[in-house]
Amino acid sequence: MASRKRLYNVGAILRGLSITFGFMFRRRPTIQYPSVKKQHAPRFHGLHELRRYGDGKERCIGCELCSSVCPANAITVIGAENAPDDRRSPGERYAARYEIDELRCIFCGMCEEACPTDAIVLTPRFEMADYRRGSFVYAKDRLLVPPDAGAGPAPDERPGGIPGDLGRVAEIKATTDVERGYDATWRGEILKTQRKGLTLVRAPKE
Ligand code: SF4
Ligand code: SF4
Repeated sequence: MASRKRLYNVGAILRGLSITFGFMFRRRPTIQYPSVKKQHAPRFHGLHELRRYGDGKERCIGCELCSSVCPANAITVIGAENAPDDRRSPGERYAARYEIDELRCIFCGMCEEACPTDAIVLTPRFEMADYRRGSFVYAKDRLLVPPDAGAGPAPDERPGGIPGDLGRVAEIKATTDVERGYDATWRGEILKTQRKGLTLVRAPKE
């Protein structure tokens, strides 16, 4: 009787070890973050960025629609008139001050949806750790993309000034890819690649 019990215990140990050994040959779900970074789901909403047009002008016209629609009251926009000799945006106004409190933000994407010029977009970037609460208020110095990262012709360069790319956020908006930084200006290409789980290929320039 006792030997049968011992045999049963050995069997249980072997069954347990077989599960352990089975996992040794499976693909690991963990990655070596931060040296290896994961591609997020295509609709992931991360940190914001403010876009420019191809000529370097700011897309934001200081209309405050994003601020009005934000359910978390996280956006502060203070618009100002463009000076004729120093035009910041193609419109009459630009955002003299633009701030997002990323701690208040719930990353819903409503600001992106409301923006008439596709200026504010949510990127796949998610790293925002810091020690002080105040450093989570992102101003234009952290939100605005570099001048050479603009995409698409500005409305004042189009016949009739019609912003032809309105409503095409998903196709044209720039985003920041963890590997390629501001080079990644065609979100569609990135999302397609993410879905397939392939290595990122260079996106066509607009
Ligand atoms: S993502 Fe949502 S909560 Fe965050 S700033 Fe935009 S509208 Fe506000
Ligand atoms: S980001 Fe867009 S919605 Fe917000 S103030 Fe600028 S133009 Fe208006």
